[in-house]
Amino acid sequence: MDIRYLKGVGEKNAHYLNLLGIKTVEDAIYYFPRDYEDRQSIKKIKDLKDGEIATLIVEVALINGTKKTQSGKRLTSVVFKDDTGYITGIWFNQPYMKKTFKVGEKVLLYGKINRRYAELQIVDPKYEKNYQESLEVGENILPLYPLNKYMTQKNLRKIIKNALDKKEDVVQEILPQKLLRDYKLLDIYTAIENIHFPESKYMLDKSIYRLKFEELFILQLGLQYFKKSISSDLTAYPIQLSDKLKDLKEALPFELTNAQSRAVREILLDMKKNKPMNRLVQGDVGSGKTVIAAIAMFNCAMAGYQAAMLAPTEILAEQHYHSVKSLLDRFGLNIELITGSTSKKQKEKILEALLNGEIDIIIGTHALLQENVEFKNLALVVTDEQHRFGVRQRSSLISKGHNPHVLVMTATPIPRTLALFLYGDMDISIINELPKGRQKIDTYFVRSTMRERVYNFIKKEVEEGKQAYIVCPLVEESEKIEAISAEEAYEYLVNNIFNGNTNMAAILHGKMSNEEKEFIMQNYKDGKIKVLVSTTVVEVGVNVPNATVMVVENAERFGLAQLHQLRGRVGRGNLKSYCILISDATNKESIERLNIMTKTNDGFVISEKDLELRGTGELFGLRQHGLPDLKIADILKDIEILKTTKDLAKKIIEENIIDNEEFIPLKNKINFLFKEKIDTATFN
Ligand code: ADP
Ligand code: MG
Repeated sequence: MDIRYLKGVGEKNAHYLNLLGIKTVEDAIYYFPRDYEDRQSIKKIKDLKDGEIATLIVEVALINGTKKTQSGKRLTSVVFKDDTGYITGIWFNQPYMKKTFKVGEKVLLYGKINRRYAELQIVDPKYEKNYQESLEVGENILPLYPLNKYMTQKNLRKIIKNALDKKEDVVQEILPQKLLRDYKLLDIYTAIENIHFPESKYMLDKSIYRLKFEELFILQLGLQYFKKSISSDLTAYPIQLSDKLKDLKEALPFELTNAQSRAVREILLDMKKNKPMNRLVQGDVGSGKTVIAAIAMFNCAMAGYQAAMLAPTEILAEQHYHSVKSLLDRFGLNIELITGSTSKKQKEKILEALLNGEIDIIIGTHALLQENVEFKNLALVVTDEQHRFGVRQRSSLISKGHNPHVLVMTATPIPRTLALFLYGDMDISIINELPKGRQKIDTYFVRSTMRERVYNFIKKEVEEGKQAYIVCPLVEESEKIEAISAEEAYEYLVNNIFNGNTNMAAILHGKMSNEEKEFIMQNYKDGKIKVLVSTTVVEVGVNVPNATVMVVENAERFGLAQLHQLRGRVGRGNLKSYCILISDATNKESIERLNIMTKTNDGFVISEKDLELRGTGELFGLRQHGLPDLKIADILKDIEILKTTKDLAKKIIEENIIDNEEFIPLKNKINFLFKEKIDTATFN
């Protein structure tokens, strides 16, 4: 029903409501308060404490008028009283407030109490005149809605009250009765009534719970329902455990950590099934994910199938190629690399060998995704650093196989809660343990006046046989951006620290040709170059365990997750490592970010802080993932409800309970919300 036709609305209000996004009566009902005024306890003036938020019923005693403050604001003050004392209401830059009140009038005030010297003030209070006759008589907790300048709280409350009178016509209970009972949920009508006009704090909490539950439940149900309809009858190549796995394990240069072994076991068991695996391996930087992928690909290849691994950058693809090759070489597998810089001739050879099955394992960048890349029997797709890829890119590789098993690897920056949520029913292996012998990376935040000392520290480490990175936000000097460039840092390092010896350091950046990049990376890995001065091309995945110092110039220009990834380039072996963040930031948020880095090495903590600082909405737009927006639930805070609803959804889908009659409304709802919008690739 169009909001225009609701009692008390009319054309003009309808227009204003539309501006708030309220077009129908249902929209109004689902226009939830952003906060509440708790008027349960109306205070006496003599009992007020400094700093508290209070509701008062007072009489206008004196209208002081408006004067200018020292800082140039216009301050309007009105004195109020009750039978216990006086209090001054203060408004800034709202001179009309003095005309708002009449001496002797009774007013309800709600706001923050300030005690200044002997005077009690209530600053910028909400007020309500003739409160006794107002709509809210007898109600203690009042909704505060997000507003625009055309709409007042009072007006909107009235409209929403009227909308609620129509709730039975426009809102349907979609949760089955049994479920309401089992999970002690309010029915939908009680919940929406109470979220706007709560009978009590208790009922408000119950309402919020019910609505969050519904929202997250629908989301989980939708994710899992469509996932099932896509994959339930998909059959994959079941891959038996190779008896060579033992030999491989013995040939590894190290012993797997418990967490790695667990992940490997989970993966191998998944791949044994004739249902495609869909697993996320989540482990902090340096936790050793590559070897897990290598083992999975090995097992696949030994069974006679092909495996492909997708990496986000050329440097990383190259590195994976070398490490996988060195781990698996002795088993006579054919392992190849394909990137943007693979020569045309070489590429043609690879394409042919992929098609006729001569290649067992292929590692590559986006070049793998091209249409002309075809496989004989692709049975496993591994994506490294998956947050660097769009869903479509991943699914385009997957579509090259016959329902291949899918393994996705990520070093955060997805907090647990979000992973639960985004990856709906994806199975997750968490690597919560670093290889033995790793030392804590010491992190410092210093000003640029310390640069010389920092660079001299690099020199000292180099003299001890170790290596370092210096990461700069820019390649070359820029007039627009005030930040040190890689070229400037390189010049400074060579001339002032290494006495002009250019053999010690090299620049690496994204604009270089692939051959150049590869050449420099190789020399750095071989220890011929001691200091790599680079842009963020080394951000993900790069693995040189001999590097012990990571210096980040203009560190304020990087996000938390990015800084954590950069820091993860050191401390990858047993050597004590250091991360030094150089920044002259004065901005409070930047400083906070850099301080967080000095306090924790835990990627999960960091990504959670990152979300706190930046807000979930902005960082992970749900729409971007093809999912409906959340109105009331918060995926970071509502983890308990998220878990409950995820398990419930799983059960309902797996046991086909969703097809029962009492679930029809819910099924319709998820069809409506998801069917068109969902990008099926989200599930892969
Ligand atoms: P990430 O999880 O960041 O991708 P990598 O797979 O690149 O980490 O591994 C980081 C380094 O740790 C590599 O040099 C790798 O050889 C080493 N490594 C991996 N697993 C172990 C282990 N169990 N014991 C010792 N070193 C390991
Ligand atoms: Mg990695």
